[in-house]
Amino acid sequence: MFSSKEGFKEAFLKKLEMTCGKSFGESTKRDHYSTLGQMVREYVSTSWINTNERYRMGKGKQVYYLSIEFLLGRLLQHNLMNLEMEELVRDGLEDLGIDLYELEETESDAGLGNGGLGRLAACFMDSLASLDLPGHGCGIRYKHGLFEQKIVDGYQVELPEQWLRHGHVWEVRRAELAIDVPFWGEVKTKEENGKLLFHHVNAETITAVPYDMPIVGYKTDTVNTLRLWNAEPAPFPADQDILKYKRETESVSEFLYPDDTHDEGKILRLKQQYFLVSASIRSIIRSHRKRYGSLHSFPEHVGIHINDTHPVLAIPELMRILVDEEGMQWDAAWKITVQTVSYTNHTTLTEALEKWPVRIFQPLLPRIYMIVEEINERFCRSLWERYPGDWKHIERMAIIAHDEVKMAHLALVGSFSVNGVASLHTEILKKQEMNDFYQIYPEKFNNKTNGITHRRWLLKANPMLAQLISDGIGDHWIREPERLSELVKYREDVAFLQQLSIVKHRNKERLAARMEEQTGIAIDPSSIFDIQVKRLHAYKRQLLNILHVMYLSNRLKEDSSFHIHPRTFIFGAKASPGYYYAKKIIKLIHTVAEKVNHDPFLADRLKIVFLENYRVSLAEEVFPAADISEQISTASKEASGTGNMKFMMNGAITVGTLDGANVEMKERAGAENLFIFGLTADQVQNYYQNGGYHSMDYYHHDNRIRQVVNQLTNGFFPDMDDEFEPIVDSLLMENDQYFVLRDFDAYVTIQKQAGKIYENQEKWRKMCLMNIAGSGYFSSDRTINQYAEEIWHLNK
Ligand SMILES: *Cc1c(COP(=O)(O)O)cnc(C)c1O
Repeated sequence: MFSSKEGFKEAFLKKLEMTCGKSFGESTKRDHYSTLGQMVREYVSTSWINTNERYRMGKGKQVYYLSIEFLLGRLLQHNLMNLEMEELVRDGLEDLGIDLYELEETESDAGLGNGGLGRLAACFMDSLASLDLPGHGCGIRYKHGLFEQKIVDGYQVELPEQWLRHGHVWEVRRAELAIDVPFWGEVKTKEENGKLLFHHVNAETITAVPYDMPIVGYKTDTVNTLRLWNAEPAPFPADQDILKYKRETESVSEFLYPDDTHDEGKILRLKQQYFLVSASIRSIIRSHRKRYGSLHSFPEHVGIHINDTHPVLAIPELMRILVDEEGMQWDAAWKITVQTVSYTNHTTLTEALEKWPVRIFQPLLPRIYMIVEEINERFCRSLWERYPGDWKHIERMAIIAHDEVKMAHLALVGSFSVNGVASLHTEILKKQEMNDFYQIYPEKFNNKTNGITHRRWLLKANPMLAQLISDGIGDHWIREPERLSELVKYREDVAFLQQLSIVKHRNKERLAARMEEQTGIAIDPSSIFDIQVKRLHAYKRQLLNILHVMYLSNRLKEDSSFHIHPRTFIFGAKASPGYYYAKKIIKLIHTVAEKVNHDPFLADRLKIVFLENYRVSLAEEVFPAADISEQISTASKEASGTGNMKFMMNGAITVGTLDGANVEMKERAGAENLFIFGLTADQVQNYYQNGGYHSMDYYHHDNRIRQVVNQLTNGFFPDMDDEFEPIVDSLLMENDQYFVLRDFDAYVTIQKQAGKIYENQEKWRKMCLMNIAGSGYFSSDRTINQYAEEIWHLNK
């Protein structure tokens, strides 16, 4: 069907007629999209079935990656690319007068995630399949992904996202594989043959129905599965009020929690977590039983990886099945459980560590709570032997303490591997945050620096650059991204560097057109594109960036001899709906933009653009067009970052702190090819531990700081009254917890240096090249190979 262009065209027209019931003349772009999508999915089916068959027969180990988020983005072009069908399909459609690019634009992003954590899960899916590894995803099929952001009068407004409005061609509903998940009710105990048996009775059940998505590897027949669970009412509910029951049930997979740091503290969130875990584990066990009968060899054949603590109930759920359903002894069951589960930590922010009040946990999940209690008791007993009499120590490490269940402690105790997501982050876990546990289980701790799929973020997002690279070093880098290092040989090659710069310029023109369309502001593509795109959070310090912009605008207006290369500051960020402070920053960016963009005196030198509704598909246009990548988090706060890697791979130069993976990027690209500034993680820790920072001093002693901070509230922005007072308070009254004023001077200096070097294009281009050349390490293929070898012990 896809072997020739003519064959494809014929099949496409036939399929269009069959699925849409319309003639070609009457059909719309959406009809074309869904026709093509269905053709591709059906085409994939054979390989999908074969892959599953191979896994079934092969008896090798399978890994299941449990994640509360999968931030997939669009799939059509990505799948066409991985199947090597893009060219044929593009040409065929062109003959029919259809533009493939326009079809792609009609696809909604599958935005089932907030940011980095969810995107990592999506990149991992691509790498697993592309490396022919037997790894699958398990998640939730949220009806509404992350909210759609609209900006109204400079304020963020959230609209429910509707990715399923027109159906989703990539999923297959598997109703026959549904699983009932029980909540509430009581546990009845009964003695039988001298053994205590537990029964969960009077539970309210929710049916989990899987929707499977094929994950197509790059140029391979491997098609893995992403299984997303949909919450539906059980067929015969015991409850009297059917409508209420239906509503409550469906709410479990209705919304993704739009918060990527704080624990929401909602019953619904805990329900989502157990729903995901219980359905996933039981479906994994069902297929294991079919193949092997008993669960004794479980860890040899199954790995369960939990992406942060959201799916940590996998541990007590597995225990419940082994003890209650299989009748195993506790110790044997525990051994199997710990040998099966591995855990990734994503943050050291204390406010982000999940804790659940017992009063919520216990009634919602009565049997699971009993098991967690038992795990806790046994763990505390072992602590008692190790630290006799040291109650403080035991209390600090307990899984249940002060009427709260600490999910990270459960993960640390109940898994065989705990990894951080960048070297610096893992060291902080070992030395500080999780030091108590590191003392007991040093062998569990390891680092797996994050990565991104270079197929989506370079090959697909930046085809011109990909082509230039292949022209230069051949296309081996696509299979072996670390071979991007071969680009180093062009570092003195003026012609090649010139080509690199032309590609960048074209990508900037494209983004400029999109920005003009959105904002009405004409953007000069030869200005420096200085970009910060990521979730809005105090620790990521978008505030430092915009205060610097205010400073530049002040200087330009006051000092006619002050020179800067024209710069366009580009922001993209969603703020969690309940995150008051973050929303203030969005308003501030818009307020500064309004003033600067309409100031004729600044017109040719400064522009500020806020890109609405930052998401994967928009990100794919942003990274290729960046000159400067802003990675300016307070050192020690960003566990890894992955946006930083996407910029690097697309030849942008990082202005950043020594935080997260920036540290390793510096090692790979060479220190001279990044702009590093600011406090180090050690210095930040030192301030937190010993004090000594007084933001007020920086305010009083630095005129530049005093001026910009005063401008937030002194009428400089007309009609803003006390709009930005909370920002000033955070900086001065609350002693600037994220060291914005402390790092201000260093930031101004490094930015000035960056602007100066940009004017030496020869040097700049070489820096870009060295970044691309050093970026291969940050392919998620490298990351996944490390997980596969060092944690999961997987075979291809
Ligand atoms: C990569 C990515 C992120 C993560 O960005 P960071 O800068 O690492 O926080 C968030 N959102 C989207 C859409 C992404 O593609």
